[in-house]
Amino acid sequence: MSVLSCADLTVDIGGKAILSAVSLSIEAGKVTAVVGPNGAGKSTLLGCLAGLHAPTSGSARLDGVSLTGMRPRDRAKRLAFLPQTPEIAWPIEARTLVELGRTPFIGARGQAGEDHAAVDRAMAAANVTEFEHRIVDTLSGGERARVLIARALAGEPEWLLADEPLTGLDPAHQLDAAVLFRRLADDGVGVIVTLHDLSMALRMADRIIVLAEGEVLADDPPATALSPDVLRRAYGVEATLTHGPGGPLIDVIRRS
Ligand code: ADP
Ligand code: MG
Repeated sequence: MSVLSCADLTVDIGGKAILSAVSLSIEAGKVTAVVGPNGAGKSTLLGCLAGLHAPTSGSARLDGVSLTGMRPRDRAKRLAFLPQTPEIAWPIEARTLVELGRTPFIGARGQAGEDHAAVDRAMAAANVTEFEHRIVDTLSGGERARVLIARALAGEPEWLLADEPLTGLDPAHQLDAAVLFRRLADDGVGVIVTLHDLSMALRMADRIIVLAEGEVLADDPPATALSPDVLRRAYGVEATLTHGPGGPLIDVIRRS
């Protein structure tokens, strides 16, 4: 089973510690949620685990191999990163955008049948086949977000690291995305997502990592990680875990 890990991972920017000696070991085949207040360092952590951000000290490794030392093409074959605010530079058709997710696999030979099949599967999984020939500029924000999920899946990665993938999706499509992430994890993919919706995190994740001010406050199964004490220390709110008809919920009562 593939393992993504970091040891004493520290990122300093302009003399400020963005991440302070974070050590984690994350197994594939699970959904891991990273939560924490704005500015906690979630995106920076995900960027380091994707090999896109070099730490100031410490290391991030995929199966023991330093991510910043891997050839970008080899890394991209195994690990897909979905940024929080992806930029789409050109007015291209949605299918063409999804095909870009196959880039690490396409050599001088050009696209082969297996590439087309992988793009078909990724678009079906993200439920965006109907937008195939739409210019991405004309899609709504949520539709575009789903096309970008399809692009990330087109490379059939072992790891999917998605920074706030549910932001901008309506409730139905949030549920679809949660189901998709679960299915990927059941198929053995390592799914790491940052989320703001704590109730979604509780329901979606096998494990929740709570970050605050660049440090790990909790790293546990969902109901343990999101304890009232951790929520108070992380967010400065009084909140409690309750149960609704759809499952567990975090009820945020007031600021501490
Ligand atoms: P989160 O995703 O949890 O909101 P980020 O990882 O984006 O947090 O950022 C953590 C902190 O680091 C924030 O205070 C942010 O302003 C700061 N930060 C991130 N990147 C830079 C940068 N390039 N220069 C200065 N500060 C940065
Ligand atoms: Mg962020």
